[in-house]
Amino acid sequence: MPLWGRRKWLRTTSAALFASSLSAKSLVSSPGPQGLATRKKTGLDLADFEPRSMLHVPVTSTERARFPVIDIHTHLAFAASSEKGVALNEERKFLAAPAELLEVMDRKNVRTMVNLTGGFGVGLAKCIQTFDKAHPGRFLTFTEPWWSRSHQPDYPQFQADEIQKAKRAGARGLKILKTLGLYLRKELTRGSLVKIDDPRFDPMWDACGQLNLPVAIHVSDPEAFFLETDRFNERYEELANHPDWSFHGRDFPSNRELLEARNRVLAKHPKTQVIALHVGNNAEDLAYVSQCLDRFPNMHVEIGARIGELGRQPRAAKRFFDKYQDRILFGTDAVPNGFETPQQIFGDKLYEIYYRFLETEDEYFDYAPAPVPPQGRWQIYGIGLPESILQKVYNANAARLLGIEM
Ligand SMILES: [Zn+2]
Repeated sequence: MPLWGRRKWLRTTSAALFASSLSAKSLVSSPGPQGLATRKKTGLDLADFEPRSMLHVPVTSTERARFPVIDIHTHLAFAASSEKGVALNEERKFLAAPAELLEVMDRKNVRTMVNLTGGFGVGLAKCIQTFDKAHPGRFLTFTEPWWSRSHQPDYPQFQADEIQKAKRAGARGLKILKTLGLYLRKELTRGSLVKIDDPRFDPMWDACGQLNLPVAIHVSDPEAFFLETDRFNERYEELANHPDWSFHGRDFPSNRELLEARNRVLAKHPKTQVIALHVGNNAEDLAYVSQCLDRFPNMHVEIGARIGELGRQPRAAKRFFDKYQDRILFGTDAVPNGFETPQQIFGDKLYEIYYRFLETEDEYFDYAPAPVPPQGRWQIYGIGLPESILQKVYNANAARLLGIEM
């Protein structure tokens, strides 16, 4: 089913089943012991509820970042064809032309965008040609593994060699999508799931360490994606809109098992610098992410698509930024024209929200440019970082890992 069709279908089925039972009346009176079943199916659908905050609080304008920004986490290209999360060939499709990106970047004080999904082989070369070489300093590209060959016997050495070739072609790091751990299987799309710490990848991790290529890794997903999509799930609407994002049941490992497998890679390859994206993929549990950072000096984190989590625990988040100020990188997970994920739509509004979260002490505002908070119905608070930390997060930490001068 095409995406729009699926969404429409969802609105009239699962979402509506949940939504219609959550009437406007039920929003002010908590459900009795009889629960949802006895409620009148009248009133406002949850999907149509767009409350406007009545708080009279300061709104700080954050048109430009206080310091030049390196956005370490963007997606300017994707695999032209993939099956069950596995890229089938080298071809890339581009999501935007450099000119339209540069306009926004200049307005928002974004010096450099790092395109993590640069692919491999001829697709990678085309990305580097189109972005990095055409606009030096403004775009950097990461390579990705040839998952389509991962079932072949010579893969470990082949992949290590490809990392070298990618570096010679101009790649600045390696990106691992959640393909590893959640999609890639022994026979690519069939068989059991390949483990994140499968020793067949050891030569790849080591090659990155030797060549000073940081590894940006997305492992697992929000904790709620591993729970049943029911009325207790705080990300119900998001999962109802994207049922394929649920990793509940079937043969999926738990969130914690995936993170622990990543940790074993960090421990085994201490010379390889790893950027654990999305706040180490566990922004809901900053205590756990802190433990990981304490255990692994080669681990760094990035904040893309997780200010919704950080901003709803602003005091813990501020302490986290203070303690790990040398290891947190600015990223947005921006996708030009990425309308399916409102928290990631590249544009002025997206950057302004990130700057507002990091720079101001504004209270209770949207974490995404969308009429309804797309990752859960809550709002966030700014953490008002001092300039010394802002500069590290906006550019210095990333510049050090990427080996570039600001
Ligand atoms: Zn991403």
